[in-house]
Amino acid sequence: MEIYYVLDASAFINGFKPTSQYNYTVPEITAEIKDFESRLLYDSAVDDGILIVQDVDRKYLDKTEENISKSGDVLRLSLPDKKIIALALMLIDEGKSVKVISDDYTIQNTLKIMNIPYSGIITEGIKEIYNWKKVCQGCKKEFEENYPFDDCDVCGSKIFKKRIKVNK
Ligand SMILES: [Zn+2]
Repeated sequence: MEIYYVLDASAFINGFKPTSQYNYTVPEITAEIKDFESRLLYDSAVDDGILIVQDVDRKYLDKTEENISKSGDVLRLSLPDKKIIALALMLIDEGKSVKVISDDYTIQNTLKIMNIPYSGIITEGIKEIYNWKKVCQGCKKEFEENYPFDDCDVCGSKIFKKRIKVNK
Protein backbone atom coordinates (compact mmCIF):
# COMPACT_ATOMS: atom_id res chain seq x y z
CA MET A 1 0.00 0.00 0.00
CA GLU A 2 1.33 3.43 -0.95
CA ILE A 3 2.24 5.67 1.94
CA TYR A 4 0.76 9.14 1.99
CA TYR A 5 3.31 11.55 3.41
CA VAL A 6 2.10 14.57 5.33
CA LEU A 7 4.85 17.16 5.42
CA ASP A 8 5.27 20.04 7.84
CA ALA A 9 7.47 23.08 7.26
CA SER A 10 10.51 21.46 8.86
CA ALA A 11 10.40 18.75 6.20
CA PHE A 12 11.09 21.36 3.51
CA ILE A 13 13.49 23.39 5.61
CA ASN A 14 15.51 20.23 6.24
CA GLY A 15 15.48 19.22 2.60
CA PHE A 16 12.96 16.40 2.32
CA LYS A 17 13.11 14.69 -1.07
CA PRO A 18 9.75 13.18 -1.96
CA THR A 19 10.06 9.47 -2.78
CA SER A 20 6.33 8.77 -2.96
CA GLN A 21 3.93 10.41 -5.38
CA TYR A 22 1.57 11.10 -2.52
CA ASN A 23 2.81 14.08 -0.57
CA TYR A 24 0.47 16.38 1.26
CA THR A 25 0.67 19.56 3.24
CA VAL A 26 -1.68 22.33 4.40
CA PRO A 27 -1.96 25.88 2.96
CA GLU A 28 -0.72 27.49 6.20
CA ILE A 29 2.71 25.91 5.73
CA THR A 30 3.64 28.27 2.90
CA ALA A 31 3.95 31.17 5.33
CA GLU A 32 6.42 29.20 7.44
CA ILE A 33 8.77 28.45 4.58
CA LYS A 34 10.66 31.69 4.30
CA ASP A 35 14.14 30.71 3.33
CA PHE A 36 14.81 30.77 -0.40
CA GLU A 37 16.08 27.23 -0.92
CA SER A 38 13.31 25.56 1.07
CA ARG A 39 10.84 27.65 -0.82
CA LEU A 40 12.31 26.46 -4.11
CA LEU A 41 11.99 22.85 -2.99
CA TYR A 42 8.39 23.46 -2.01
CA ASP A 43 7.42 25.34 -5.16
CA SER A 44 9.00 22.82 -7.50
CA ALA A 45 7.24 19.94 -5.72
CA VAL A 46 3.92 21.75 -6.23
CA ASP A 47 4.80 22.48 -9.88
CA ASP A 48 5.77 18.87 -10.48
CA GLY A 49 2.42 17.77 -9.09
CA ILE A 50 3.97 15.65 -6.35
CA LEU A 51 2.91 17.93 -3.52
CA ILE A 52 -0.77 18.46 -2.87
CA VAL A 53 -1.76 21.42 -0.74
CA GLN A 54 -4.92 20.33 1.00
CA ASP A 55 -7.08 22.11 3.53
CA VAL A 56 -8.69 20.07 6.30
CA ASP A 57 -12.28 19.74 7.44
CA ARG A 58 -13.12 21.53 10.65
CA LYS A 59 -14.12 18.30 12.38
CA TYR A 60 -10.60 16.91 12.07
CA LEU A 61 -9.14 20.07 13.54
CA ASP A 62 -11.58 19.79 16.45
CA LYS A 63 -10.65 16.16 16.95
CA THR A 64 -6.96 17.13 16.92
CA GLU A 65 -7.46 19.86 19.49
CA GLU A 66 -9.34 17.44 21.73
CA ASN A 67 -6.36 15.09 21.66
CA ILE A 68 -3.81 17.86 22.17
CA SER A 69 -5.60 19.19 25.22
CA LYS A 70 -4.95 15.82 26.84
CA SER A 71 -1.23 15.92 26.06
CA GLY A 72 -0.46 19.29 27.62
CA ASP A 73 1.25 20.49 24.46
CA VAL A 74 -1.64 22.70 23.50
CA LEU A 75 0.23 26.00 23.91
CA ARG A 76 3.26 24.87 21.97
CA LEU A 77 1.49 23.95 18.76
CA SER A 78 0.75 26.59 16.14
CA LEU A 79 -2.28 26.47 13.87
CA PRO A 80 -0.23 25.06 10.97
CA ASP A 81 1.10 22.35 13.33
CA LYS A 82 -2.42 21.40 14.36
CA LYS A 83 -3.57 21.38 10.76
CA ILE A 84 -0.77 19.02 9.78
CA ILE A 85 -1.96 16.59 12.45
CA ALA A 86 -5.59 17.13 11.42
CA LEU A 87 -4.71 16.40 7.79
CA ALA A 88 -3.10 13.11 8.84
CA LEU A 89 -6.30 12.22 10.72
CA MET A 90 -8.39 13.08 7.68
CA LEU A 91 -6.31 10.90 5.34
CA ILE A 92 -6.37 8.01 7.82
CA ASP A 93 -10.13 8.40 7.99
CA GLU A 94 -10.19 8.05 4.18
CA GLY A 95 -8.44 4.71 4.62
CA LYS A 96 -5.01 5.90 3.56
CA SER A 97 -1.75 4.70 5.03
CA VAL A 98 -0.14 7.83 6.40
CA LYS A 99 3.20 8.94 7.71
CA VAL A 100 3.86 12.45 8.98
CA ILE A 101 7.30 13.89 8.25
CA SER A 102 8.30 16.41 10.90
CA ASP A 103 11.38 17.26 12.89
CA ASP A 104 9.28 19.21 15.38
CA TYR A 105 9.44 17.46 18.72
CA THR A 106 6.06 18.73 19.92
CA ILE A 107 4.35 17.51 16.75
CA GLN A 108 6.09 14.14 17.05
CA ASN A 109 5.05 13.87 20.67
CA THR A 110 1.42 14.60 19.85
CA LEU A 111 1.45 12.11 16.97
CA LYS A 112 2.85 9.47 19.28
CA ILE A 113 0.01 10.03 21.73
CA MET A 114 -2.52 9.85 18.88
CA ASN A 115 -0.94 6.72 17.47
CA ILE A 116 -0.20 8.27 14.07
CA PRO A 117 2.98 7.08 12.34
CA TYR A 118 5.65 9.74 11.93
CA SER A 119 9.26 10.16 11.12
CA GLY A 120 11.83 12.86 11.51
CA ILE A 121 13.61 13.66 8.30
CA ILE A 122 17.00 12.77 9.73
CA THR A 123 15.81 9.33 10.79
CA GLU A 124 13.77 8.65 7.67
CA GLY A 125 16.60 6.80 5.96
CA ILE A 126 16.39 9.00 2.90
CA LYS A 127 19.57 8.65 0.90
CA GLU A 128 20.19 12.29 0.21
CA ILE A 129 20.01 14.70 3.05
CA TYR A 130 20.84 18.32 2.65
CA ASN A 131 22.32 20.58 5.21
CA TRP A 132 23.15 24.22 5.16
CA LYS A 133 26.44 25.90 5.72
CA LYS A 134 26.94 29.64 6.09
CA VAL A 135 29.82 30.87 3.97
CA CYS A 136 31.28 34.34 3.39
CA GLN A 137 31.06 35.42 -0.23
CA GLY A 138 34.34 37.32 0.06
CA CYS A 139 36.90 35.38 2.07
CA LYS A 140 34.97 32.04 2.15
CA LYS A 141 35.09 31.84 5.91
CA GLU A 142 32.57 29.31 7.22
CA PHE A 143 30.24 30.19 10.05
CA GLU A 144 28.24 28.26 12.60
CA GLU A 145 24.54 27.92 11.86
CA ASN A 146 23.75 30.24 14.77
CA TYR A 147 26.07 33.10 13.69
CA PRO A 148 23.67 36.01 14.05
CA PHE A 149 24.89 38.50 11.41
CA ASP A 150 24.50 38.80 7.64
CA ASP A 151 28.01 40.15 7.17
CA CYS A 152 31.38 38.47 7.62
CA ASP A 153 33.24 39.48 10.79
CA VAL A 154 36.57 39.30 8.93
CA CYS A 155 36.04 41.05 5.60
CA GLY A 156 32.53 42.48 5.88
CA SER A 157 31.21 40.68 2.78
CA LYS A 158 27.78 39.13 2.65
CA ILE A 159 27.28 35.65 4.05
CA PHE A 160 25.24 33.20 2.04
CA LYS A 161 23.81 29.80 2.82
CA LYS A 162 25.28 26.98 0.87
CA ARG A 163 23.53 23.66 0.48
CA ILE A 164 25.71 20.65 1.20
CA LYS A 165 24.79 17.06 0.65
CA VAL A 166 25.22 14.70 3.56
CA ASN A 167 25.24 11.09 2.47
CA LYS A 168 23.91 8.53 4.83
ZN1 LIG B 1 34.70 37.27 4.76
